[in-house]
Amino acid sequence: MDFFSYDQGAYCCEGIPLDRIAAEFGTPAYVYSEKTVTDHYQKLDRALAPVPHLICYSVKTNSNLAILAHMARLGSGFDIVSGGELYRVLKAGGDASKVVFAGVGKTTDEMRRSIESGIFMFNIESLPEAEALSGVARDMNRDVRVAVRINPDVSPDTHHYITTGKKETKFGLPIDRAMDVFRAIGRMDRLIPTAVHCHIGSQITEIDPYKETLEKIGPLIQQLRDEGFDIRYFNLGGGLGIIYKEESPQTAARFAESILPMVKPMNVELLMEPGRFVVGNAGVLLTRVLYIKDTGSKCFAIVDAGMNDLVRPTLYGAYHEILPVRQKSAKKKTYDVVGPVCETGDFFAKDRSIDEMHAGDLLAIKSAGAYGFVMASNYNTRPRPPEIWVSGGRPRIARRRETYEDLVSAECDGIESVLSDRTTFGG
Ligand SMILES: *Cc1c(COP(=O)(O)O)cnc(C)c1O
Repeated sequence: MDFFSYDQGAYCCEGIPLDRIAAEFGTPAYVYSEKTVTDHYQKLDRALAPVPHLICYSVKTNSNLAILAHMARLGSGFDIVSGGELYRVLKAGGDASKVVFAGVGKTTDEMRRSIESGIFMFNIESLPEAEALSGVARDMNRDVRVAVRINPDVSPDTHHYITTGKKETKFGLPIDRAMDVFRAIGRMDRLIPTAVHCHIGSQITEIDPYKETLEKIGPLIQQLRDEGFDIRYFNLGGGLGIIYKEESPQTAARFAESILPMVKPMNVELLMEPGRFVVGNAGVLLTRVLYIKDTGSKCFAIVDAGMNDLVRPTLYGAYHEILPVRQKSAKKKTYDVVGPVCETGDFFAKDRSIDEMHAGDLLAIKSAGAYGFVMASNYNTRPRPPEIWVSGGRPRIARRRETYEDLVSAECDGIESVLSDRTTFGG
């Protein structure tokens, strides 16, 4: 079921024409479909139903409070990578006891706050980190569940920036050192090693890297249990791929069909940390064509969104489908769709055949729900766009457009003292 579709020539989100949303909230703007989020979450949840499991939505993928609150209502847990994300989860009414904390550089302050809130467990990525956590837990007189993030050395066929399960990356600990790491952690105060964690990368469209991971982790869990470790959970991470262009990723059902026969004999509760799979195709970036610039050799559609709003095309060479919000012309033309930011890397598409367009036309940049707004910046002093949450047949502001005042507010105190000290600058 696609909740983004054309209806009488207008591209709609849950039946609401996107030009109406643009008229009300302006452009550029992110628009999210609640029904899509629900649909994707429930597909995976149902597919995993044959085994005890907990889905921990990856907060970094899209951390808008409306999405987090909705995930909490659906019963989801959360995968966080910072203290800021914990703050967001709690603010959105998320359940701390379903939070897992990953990341290679957790600070002791973040550890303390997380233990205070009563999070489910920490995914440990190095022994010095485990020692730091043990110290904090000892000071607080609290026992803490830990998973060890194992790097299984598999290489999913995805962009090298989002491959994390190869031994050359900074993530996790090598599988051949796993036993020693568990033994060391087992000797540390207050730490309860109870899980194995793997997250091998992102936008994985094949099943094989997951199977390879399970083939390596199954025997490891057995070996750990043989040595007396009480391993109750296996966290398979996120990474499930989605359709941006012509990918044909496995469905949740097909994914579960392939992995569950390997998970069942492990006798664990399965955790997963999907991000992109849940929200990637639940959002579009709505933008308006400012100018058409034909240089003779190239035709540029200059739009009001920029790389500061959506960096994926230039950062990863990512493909995002671009559709006219109003279908007007059957005639196609080849465009570079570019933004106003002063960088050659400021583009959304190159040499793309799109319905002929004119200044003032609206475009929907598809599949922008994951790693879109969360990676937005204020580069070129551009206010970040609003996030519009479509729910129950109504668009609502989940985050308002930033103002110029927002952009300088954190500097205002600073400028006072700089200006009052003018003698330094010969003023
Ligand atoms: C980013 C991340 C995820 C989510 O990845 P997706 O590809 O969006 O599903 C899950 N787990 C960890 C540890 C991550 O860093």
